[in-house]
Amino acid sequence: MKADYQVPNASYRSASEFPTAPWTDLLRTAIKDLAELLDFVELSYSELDEVSIVDPTFPLLVPRGFAARMRKRDPHDPLLRQVLPLARERDAVSGFVSDPLAEFERSQSGVIRKYAGRALLVTTAACPIHCRYCFRRHFPYADQSASRASWADAIAALERARDVSEVILSGGDPLTLANGRLKTLIDKLERLDHLRTLRIHTRFPIVLPERIDAELLSSLASSRLRTVVVVHCNHAQEIDATVERGLAALHANGVVLLNQSVLLRGVNDDAAALRALSERLLDARVLPYYLHALDPVAGSAHFDVPEREALALVEEIRSTLPGYLVPRLVRELPGGISKTMLT
Ligand SMILES: *Cc1c(COP(=O)(O)O)cnc(C)c1O
Ligand code: SF4
Repeated sequence: MKADYQVPNASYRSASEFPTAPWTDLLRTAIKDLAELLDFVELSYSELDEVSIVDPTFPLLVPRGFAARMRKRDPHDPLLRQVLPLARERDAVSGFVSDPLAEFERSQSGVIRKYAGRALLVTTAACPIHCRYCFRRHFPYADQSASRASWADAIAALERARDVSEVILSGGDPLTLANGRLKTLIDKLERLDHLRTLRIHTRFPIVLPERIDAELLSSLASSRLRTVVVVHCNHAQEIDATVERGLAALHANGVVLLNQSVLLRGVNDDAAALRALSERLLDARVLPYYLHALDPVAGSAHFDVPEREALALVEEIRSTLPGYLVPRLVRELPGGISKTMLT
């Protein structure tokens, strides 16, 4: 239990120490317009070697801080590639479907129970960034978010699930919730005495690190639940000094930090990039956890890396990195009892 040890308040280093706009403003003013993004990175449409599109069902969304980490005038920048909507997304590719993990029917009141001991709570549809390869880009959030009935149904479902000791807040991105709402949810979870661990799956610490404010840190640090934050970072270039400060603040407040990445063609599909990512994560006190083979979600086929190539890449980095910096290459198969290890 967390209350048993001293929370190192002295090393609190929240974004508020480094004055910037509140995260809500930064989210509101994120780039939503493709022409503006291209302008920001000093590219014109004609310099992209592929046709880009406007997709109203999954529109462009990029925080300015993240865009600032993209290399200028580089259509192949690994951060740009993750958010750039391409006409190819509209190609029908066999095997690429809207619900690759068969989650839609397994979700009730926003609670998805696939694996023993753990339950995943879909808290919100909203994200701080729109990643083109996202496996939940077609998820029916309107029917399935836990928040609809002020968490009541989801909490009731978890209360009955006595065998669950870990709740995973997911989404969308759970840190899109305001601090007050998040605190209310954590308080309710804490009252379920069979829960021991709170896990948060979030891309905020990477794409909008200002989200890690003093109020959030204090909610996490004061919880009786062990807290694990699994961030989502695909390339070393995503981690700058601001990101490092935010992660250091989480770490200083007793949060265990892990990373999951997706293996993406044109982003991180070479051994040097994967090695640099692991090293950079360690600088920021984060250990690599999973490297996901792409889920075959409609619109993402252009990011696919064949499994044989994925295995070879992981073997290659294994030969030069300590074991704890080698992520587990996994694929999620519908119906499995855990994610499927490919290595
Ligand atoms: C990935 C996932 C989990 C967590 O699995 P771990 O192997 O513990 O990280 C739990 N529930 C669902 C539905 C998941 O997709
Ligand atoms: S932040 Fe995560 S949930 Fe949101 S679009 Fe990106 S991959 Fe999907």
